[in-house]
Amino acid sequence: MKRMLVLVVGLLTLGVQRPAAQGQPIRGFPQAEVEAQRAREAQLRAVPDSGRLRRYMEVMAGEPHVAGRPGSRKVAEFARETFASFGLDAQIETFEALMPWPADRTVEMVSPSRHTMAIAEPVLAADPDSADADMTPVFNAYSGDGDVTGEVVYVNYGMPADFDRLEQMGISVRGKVVLARYGAGWRGIKPKVAYERGAVACLIYSDPRDDGFFQGDVYPDGPFRPDQGVQRGSVMDMPVHPGDPLSPGWASEPGARKLPREQAATILKIPVLPISYGDALPLLRELKGPVVPPEWRGGLPVTYHAGPGPATARVALRFDWQTRPLHNVIVRIPGRELPDEWVIYGNHHDAWVNGADDPISGAVSLMETGRALGELLKTGWRPRRTIILALWDGEEWGLLGSTEWAEKHAAELKANAAVYINSDSTGKGWLNVGGSHALQQMMSEVAREVNDPRTGRPVADESRRRQVQGTPEAQRAGRERDQNLWLEPLGSGSDFTPFLQHLTVSALNVGFGGESSGGIYHSAYDTVRWYTMFSDGEFQYGRTLAQLTGTLLLRLADAPILPFQFTDSADTFLRYADELEELAKTRPEARLDLAPVRAAIAQLREASQAFEQAYGRSQRLSTQALAARAELRRVNRLLIQSEQRLGMGDGLPRREWFKHQIYAPGFYTGYGVKTMPQIREGLEERRLEEAQGGVRTVSAAISALAQQVREAATQLDAASR
Ligand SMILES: [Zn+2]
Repeated sequence: MKRMLVLVVGLLTLGVQRPAAQGQPIRGFPQAEVEAQRAREAQLRAVPDSGRLRRYMEVMAGEPHVAGRPGSRKVAEFARETFASFGLDAQIETFEALMPWPADRTVEMVSPSRHTMAIAEPVLAADPDSADADMTPVFNAYSGDGDVTGEVVYVNYGMPADFDRLEQMGISVRGKVVLARYGAGWRGIKPKVAYERGAVACLIYSDPRDDGFFQGDVYPDGPFRPDQGVQRGSVMDMPVHPGDPLSPGWASEPGARKLPREQAATILKIPVLPISYGDALPLLRELKGPVVPPEWRGGLPVTYHAGPGPATARVALRFDWQTRPLHNVIVRIPGRELPDEWVIYGNHHDAWVNGADDPISGAVSLMETGRALGELLKTGWRPRRTIILALWDGEEWGLLGSTEWAEKHAAELKANAAVYINSDSTGKGWLNVGGSHALQQMMSEVAREVNDPRTGRPVADESRRRQVQGTPEAQRAGRERDQNLWLEPLGSGSDFTPFLQHLTVSALNVGFGGESSGGIYHSAYDTVRWYTMFSDGEFQYGRTLAQLTGTLLLRLADAPILPFQFTDSADTFLRYADELEELAKTRPEARLDLAPVRAAIAQLREASQAFEQAYGRSQRLSTQALAARAELRRVNRLLIQSEQRLGMGDGLPRREWFKHQIYAPGFYTGYGVKTMPQIREGLEERRLEEAQGGVRTVSAAISALAQQVREAATQLDAASR
C-alpha cells in the first residue's frame, strides 16, 4: 500500500520537472553558453531508466561474484558488452593481486562447555539467491594463518580506547582470543590493535544491538541481520596502503616485481574471523570476570562480562595465499578539443557475495550514466575533455583494482586527471556528498539542478536541511547563512582513495541513502530480493544518481574553465585549523603554534579572491574568444594540478603511500577521516614531534596551493583581457 502511494506521488511529480536553477549561472561557463549547456544536461537527464537499472542488477547480482573468482570476470564481461551496446569503447584492463582464499576454518569453544561455530549463512527459503552455488565462505580477507587456543576477552568495539579501558580494569589481552563487536571504527583496526596489545586471535561479531533484532525485524521478514548472518570484509591494514600487499606503490601485473609475503606490511599477523551473533552468544554466556560498563553491553540476553575466560576458544585458520586476477572495465570517450584533460567516474563491480546493494546498486547507475552519454554522442555531441568511466574489481579486498590502475597510470593521471568522481552502494533517501573543497560550489550547483524523485524539489534541499540539522547548536546560524551544500572531507572506504590520497587528484564521492538501513552488509543476503524490498526498490534514486553524475561529467568535461573555486577551500581549512587549536589546548605540552597554517590559509584566501575577480571578468567573453587565448589552456592545466599541491612527496609519517596533507583515513579509525592528519593524529596519539612537523608540511602544502591559484588568476586575467 505504501509503495503504491510512493508510485502515485512519483508519477505526479514526474510531470513537474521544475528546473529550479533556471537562469542561474553555471560555474565554468560564460553566461552566453549557459542555456545551451542547461538544455544539453536536461537531454542527458531524460535518458536514465529505472527498468534498465533493475534488469542490469538482476544479471550482475544474480550470482556470487567475489573478486578473484570466475563470477567477477563474468560480471566484468557483461558490463563491457553492455557499454559496447551503447556505442562506447569499453575494454577490460587486467591486473592481479595476492588474494588468499580460506582453505581451513575452525572456531570452537573448548571449555568450559563445547560449541563448534557454524561460520556459515544458512539458506533462507524466502530468498532463492541465498541458495546460490559458490557462496563465498565467511572470512576476513588478509587474516593471518594460525591455530591458537586462548581464554576469551570481550573488548567491546575493539578500538584503542576500549583496550585502554580494559587495562584500567586490570585485564590484559596478552595471549588471549579477543571477541570484538562490529562498529565504532573500521573492522581492520580491531585485530590490528588486538595484535599490538598481544592477543593471539580476534573474532569479530555483529551484535544485535547495533546490527540485528534490536534495530528491527530481521531478514527475510525485515531488513536487519538474522542470527546467523555474518559480515565478511577485509582486514588489510589499509591505513598504511591499500592495493596488492605485494606491490605497494607500483602496478601489480603478471611478471611485475613483488615483495616476499613476509615483507608485506598490510597482512594481519594473527588469525581473525567474523562470526554471527548466533555463534558469539555461547562464548558470551560462558564469560566471567567483571561486568562490563553499561555502554559496552549489547543486545543479547546475557550479562556481558569482560573475562578473561573461563570461556576458551580455539581459532584455526589456513589460507592458500594465491595471486588472482582482477578485471577492471574501462570506458573511454575521447575529448574533442582537450583529449589530454580527463574526467573520471568509477564504482566497483566486485562484491563479497551477490552484492545487490554493495556495489551493484551504484554500478548499474554508472552504466546508465554511460548509456546517457552514448545517447548524447549519437546526436553529434562530443565532450571537450576526455571522459573515462571505470568499473573496478577487488574493491572489497582492499581497493585492489582502482589502486593498481592508479599506480600503473600514475604519471598520466597526475598530468591529466582533473577530477575523479566515485560512487558505491546507493539507496533510498537523500544525497550524501564528500570530496575536495575546491569542487564544493560546482557540486552545490549540480545538486540544485537535479530533482528528488519523490518531492520534485532539488536534491540539494533535503541534503542541506540534514546538514544544518546535524550542525552543533552554536554554529548553526553560520551554517544556515551558507547556501552551499557542504562537502564532507573524505577518509577512506571506497575507490576514491588512490586518486585523492595517493595521487592527490581532486575527488568527489556521491550517493543516496539514509532511509534504507538494514543488516545485509557483506552478507549472502545482500540480494536483489533484499534490495527491491527494503531499499530503492523502484530504482528511482538509482536513476537520480545517474542523472546527477551525468550532469557532473557534462559540466566538468565541457566547461571552458574548469569549475574549481578556492574560497570554499580556504573557509574549510580555517575551520580545521580552529578545531586543531581546540585540540591543542588539551595537549599544552605540545606547545603547538598554528600561526604558520593560518598564514598559509590567509594566502590561499587572497589568491582565491584574485582568481574570483579574474573569473568574473572572463564571464563577459564568449567561449570562442576565451578558447583562442593560449592562457586559457594554462589556466586549466594549473587547475588540474591544483590539488596536487596539497600532496607531499614524503607522504604521512609511518605511511608514505598517503600523500594528501589535508584528508586521510585515520590510522586508528580506518575509514573515518582525519583532516590535517599529521597534526591531528600527532596530537591525539601524543606524537608531539609529528604534530609540530605537521604544522610545517600542512602550511607548506596550503602555501603551494595558494601560489598555484595566484598563478591561475594571473593567467585567467591575461586570458580575459
Ligand atoms: Zn562497496
